[in-house]
Amino acid sequence: MKTLNNRIMQLTKPYKFEKIEKNVIVNDCDVVVKPTLAYICAADMRYYTGNRRPEALKKKLPMALLHEGIGIVQGDTKGFSKGDKVVIVPNIPGYVVNETSPEECCVACSNKNIGENYCASGKFISSGADGIMQKSVIHPSECVVKIPEGVPDEVAALSELATVSYAASKKVDIKENDTIAIFGNGAVGYILYCVISFVYNIDKDRLFIIGTDESKMEAFEHATKLNIRNDEDADKIANINANYVFECVGGNNMGSAINTAINLIERGGVIISMGVCEENVAINMRDVLEKGLTIKGSSRSSRFEYPIVLEYMKDEKFQQMLRKIIYENAFKIQSVQNLKEAFDFAASKDYWGKILLEFEEDLYE
Ligand SMILES: [Zn+2]
Ligand SMILES: [Zn+2]
Repeated sequence: MKTLNNRIMQLTKPYKFEKIEKNVIVNDCDVVVKPTLAYICAADMRYYTGNRRPEALKKKLPMALLHEGIGIVQGDTKGFSKGDKVVIVPNIPGYVVNETSPEECCVACSNKNIGENYCASGKFISSGADGIMQKSVIHPSECVVKIPEGVPDEVAALSELATVSYAASKKVDIKENDTIAIFGNGAVGYILYCVISFVYNIDKDRLFIIGTDESKMEAFEHATKLNIRNDEDADKIANINANYVFECVGGNNMGSAINTAINLIERGGVIISMGVCEENVAINMRDVLEKGLTIKGSSRSSRFEYPIVLEYMKDEKFQQMLRKIIYENAFKIQSVQNLKEAFDFAASKDYWGKILLEFEEDLYE
């Protein structure tokens, strides 16, 4: 155990970042990681723009944002060497936090069918604990994953999102001849589409993307694109007869997406919900009963999905698909001001894709 003088870039209130200095404890089993790249997530934006319940904001801020990123190991520790490129796994299960065992922790940690991403006593960085926006991220070695040779940095940094999609896909048993519909043409919908198309080899004519904006659907090359606001497409949507529907919409339109999903899904089908909505949603339960449907929630991912997804990421075809989500102009972050500019741009919603932040050497000086 030792102490380290760290610098942390915290969100103190909506639209305001401040750099602070803090002495932090590094335990023997911790890995010290210097972040190099990160993507802004919709969850970060909800804090930045103050679009969370006031109680939640008050409880969680000040806090460093960002949880989708990679970095470089700063010293030799438990299975890691100085200079290793690693992914920082944001989800830290309760048994790692409390140094117990999965069995002692909770039902989610002790039962692999549930998954430790549903742990009741876990920690998630940038949601109740400081995120990646720090000079040094002090992270338990269990939740640090080496990036294999052949995976480019900006692709590896997408692994959090890709594991979230992979974990959602594992909620059902997808076969090559299944028909699958994805609601949502945002980043979550896109990464999920990449995983379903690449990992499960689902043909274009049996993989449907249902969105509201054609300009944001161009990248979904290996899927059939349907616009819910177009009457002709609406008829096609009604006749999809999907075995599985993934909802990646969230927000105010989540209810209508789920109810449309109930209409187009095959009897006995499963709807996997991944969108985030702060309000309750009214669902057509009459047809859920009549068609014998199952609705499953899927949130976050566990450390176990990372090595699997990083292995898939060695494939150039998968890399090419994933790269399309990266917004073309990365933001170089050298100061609090640069960080604010990147977040203000993300808040403008005048783009499609994931915003990549590159942390400059002297950012915390
Ligand atoms: Zn995220
Ligand atoms: Zn647990």
